[in-house]
Amino acid sequence: MNTHTKNQYLTTLNGINLTLKRGDLIDPEVSGNKFWKLHYNLKKALELRQTGILTFGGAFSNHLAATAAATAAVGLRSVGVVRGLEWAERHAQNPTLQFCKSKGMQLHYISRVAYREKATPYCLTQWSKSFPNYMILPEGGTNTLALQGCADAIGQEDLDFETICTPVGTGGTLAGLALGGALNQQYLGFAVLRNKALQASVEILNPNSNWMINHDYSMGGYAKTPPELIRFINDFKKKFTIPLDPIYTGKMLFGIFDLINKGLWRWGKNVLIIHTGGLQGIAGINQRLAQKGGVLLD
Ligand SMILES: *Cc1c(COP(=O)(O)O)cnc(C)c1O
Repeated sequence: MNTHTKNQYLTTLNGINLTLKRGDLIDPEVSGNKFWKLHYNLKKALELRQTGILTFGGAFSNHLAATAAATAAVGLRSVGVVRGLEWAERHAQNPTLQFCKSKGMQLHYISRVAYREKATPYCLTQWSKSFPNYMILPEGGTNTLALQGCADAIGQEDLDFETICTPVGTGGTLAGLALGGALNQQYLGFAVLRNKALQASVEILNPNSNWMINHDYSMGGYAKTPPELIRFINDFKKKFTIPLDPIYTGKMLFGIFDLINKGLWRWGKNVLIIHTGGLQGIAGINQRLAQKGGVLLD
């Protein structure tokens, strides 16, 4: 697998030059940062002759979809533990879960309460007993090998950018990219969820000071999609013919454009923006928006 990804000049806004790293184009099924995060984990699972990978996620999770596709591609099995018992009955209506099943992922639905306990030492022992010889990956796929895969995504040509932007869920991607970059670069993460512990948990993954997290564009919280966000993503696609996902990359770019347009940008003039992919999530969000009768993603 090749983790190198093409950079594409986007536009210049108030004198700030924006370039996109097109992680969305890495693979039609294993997009962007999930590809980087899985790369060395899959390699290790194959080396250790594991049967497959067991991991966790919400019903629309990019990580579950990527794990299902990537394991199938290298001949490993996969088990997905899904948050929310209700999906046991509704999985046929969920595009992400249907995709996972089509790739042969075995899906286990557990209650939200049980999901909170999923990674306690006791539960991990139980998962290992039920699925012997499976490598267990945490929710979102963040572990040491994932950081290494993200670090590799920063190449020589990326070191000339003063500022590198990426969306932040668990922060594994931000931590890993910053580990792969130079100490005089600024890695600027945009939190897509409200989590006060994020700063501290990324500090554990990366103790350097070449990164920081902006918390102003979570737009109501994880997977919340206000109409101004949907409109921004649709306008962006029309103008640049580049699709954004509403959970991660849409919020980051909304934030970058907003800061620059309001004159609040205090980072570098040459900015590399990581398009982390996640486009598989659009179908699920559109389903939900349609039920509410709101504006849809184009
Ligand atoms: C998972 C994901 C992220 C966040 O990655 P973390 O390492 O959890 O911070 C960003 N963008 C996309 C498209 C994702 O799927």
